[in-house]
Amino acid sequence: MIIVIKPGKEAVISEITNRFGDHTEVFVHDNRIAIQGADRDALNKVELDAAAQIIENHPASVQGSRAFHPEDTIIQTPHSTIGGDNFTMMAGPCSVESLAHVRKMAEVAKAGGATVLRGGAFKPRTSPYSFQGLGEPGLQFLRQAADEFGLDVLTEVMDEDHVEMVGKYTDIFQIGARNMQNFSLLKAVGKTKIPVMLKRGMSATIDDILNAAEYIAAGGNTQIMIAERGIRTFDNKYTRNTLDVGAVPVLQKLSHYPVIVDPSHAAGHTEFVTKEALAGVAIGASGLVVEIHDDPAHAFSDGAQALTPDQFLEMANQATAIRSLVKPTKKAEVTA
Ligand code: PEP
Ligand code: MN
Repeated sequence: MIIVIKPGKEAVISEITNRFGDHTEVFVHDNRIAIQGADRDALNKVELDAAAQIIENHPASVQGSRAFHPEDTIIQTPHSTIGGDNFTMMAGPCSVESLAHVRKMAEVAKAGGATVLRGGAFKPRTSPYSFQGLGEPGLQFLRQAADEFGLDVLTEVMDEDHVEMVGKYTDIFQIGARNMQNFSLLKAVGKTKIPVMLKRGMSATIDDILNAAEYIAAGGNTQIMIAERGIRTFDNKYTRNTLDVGAVPVLQKLSHYPVIVDPSHAAGHTEFVTKEALAGVAIGASGLVVEIHDDPAHAFSDGAQALTPDQFLEMANQATAIRSLVKPTKKAEVTA
């Protein structure tokens, strides 16, 4: 149950927190209070009188819901403001390959207007015999390149035992599609204060990803963004996955977290990446996360879907043009 407290009656918030807090989860956001597992019958007369609205029919992922938190979450990192009316470009290689290479890619990302440099040092590869990432030295190279060009770092953490170490280098944790329901990992990043980009699992429903986000929020970290990166459908012969563009406004309606589109892992082939990126911009995503490489044929991973520097710069120009035509999404009014 979510209770919206009337103006002037805020004192009741701490009373409710004290009364319920020792036997259930209670979350407070401004004048809204969510009590896990309780309904209106649990409220006394003073509490009922203080309620402007009682919302009993809300999603299980309550902290992520617009009913609990009507306004957009805006995530502030050293170089980026993510969410709300802002648009954030994130780019970089799939894998960190060397210091020299990631520096070169950071320069390209910056030239295309990116404020976030992506790159994996721990790679979730389909085959255990494929390149697994450079590990901690890769994080050092990524951090150094990002700092040199005034960019934030976005990198994947695959294992809860690595959260602390990866957290020393990154501004944003990436939770990959394959780990979207790794609940111990979600709990571990939920205990940090570092923003998290949660990528949609390839077979995850909208409710699945919202509940996965709730695992992070439940630990106290609500600096979450959601990435649509393509899902498995009946026909992924010509694309690696199917970009679920329609998920963007749905997620924006249901939750207040910024929604980012990853056209690279959706398309899987360079020739489709720009088109899918532009679709993401047109539908109102808060940003793009795009893989780039100057020599895709020799990339350590995901070369087939990398944009070359020229292709990236062209895409970034087109994205800016489309963005200027698309008014920031009008958020649905919270009802019920
Ligand atoms: C990646 O970002 O390189 C990656 C592996 O992404 P995903 O988890 O979406 O497959
Ligand atoms: Mn990749």
